[in-house]
Amino acid sequence: MITLALSKGRIFEETLPLLAAAGIEVLEDPESSRKLILPTNQPDVRVVLVRATDVPTYVAYGGADIGVAGRDVLIEHGGAGLYQPLDLQIARCRMSVAVRDDFDYQGVVQQGSRLRVATKYTSIARQHFAEKGVHVDLIKLYGSMELAPLTGLADAIVDLVSTGSTLKANRLVEVERIMDISSRLVVNQAALKLKREALKPLIDAIAAAVGQPTARTA
Ligand code: ATP
Ligand code: MG
Repeated sequence: MITLALSKGRIFEETLPLLAAAGIEVLEDPESSRKLILPTNQPDVRVVLVRATDVPTYVAYGGADIGVAGRDVLIEHGGAGLYQPLDLQIARCRMSVAVRDDFDYQGVVQQGSRLRVATKYTSIARQHFAEKGVHVDLIKLYGSMELAPLTGLADAIVDLVSTGSTLKANRLVEVERIMDISSRLVVNQAALKLKREALKPLIDAIAAAVGQPTARTA
């Protein structure tokens, strides 16, 4: 049995065509089903639905053999125990710094003042500001980052941006792009050896669908 970990929403939706190219069809719709384990048309392949941030944990500990996770999530997780053979180029967005539209970000940075930054992505934020030599106080949040600068909780946020419409709706502006984000295939390192006969063709078919060569899976 091969167990594939996916999160509901955009990652699930955008992974479906890649699975279809590998001959795998998920037989239930996670939006209408309450099941957390979904069968596929392949009796030896099943999908487990987990939170986006839990995908690396499931795969690293063998609760799933393979999964799809955002680069953001993978950096925050650290990636230990995971093999990352393929950038799927799905769920694309960027990690950015945003502030209230009346906040003088460049001024504060140039003066060398401390910046209060609210984010769910503390590793990425810490690294980014360390590289810039900007002193920050990081405030860990789990959601609705946009609210932090509006309430005075923080001067800036580090968050994912795709169209920018959420920022705009909350009078925030993007002042720095930290990195481009897309989702990657992650594979349990032991499973890649033990279930190689089943996993290798699956990874290769997904790679072909993405139009990319796989990293060596030796
Ligand atoms: P939840 O929304 O349930 O709290 P989450 O935010 O971790 O969980 P999603 O919103 O489904 O989960 O995001 C999953 C992944 O999709 C993220 O880790 C990121 O890589 C990517 N992503 C997030 N927001 C966007 C976006 N606006 N556009 C494109 N991709 C995104
Ligand atoms: Mg979300």
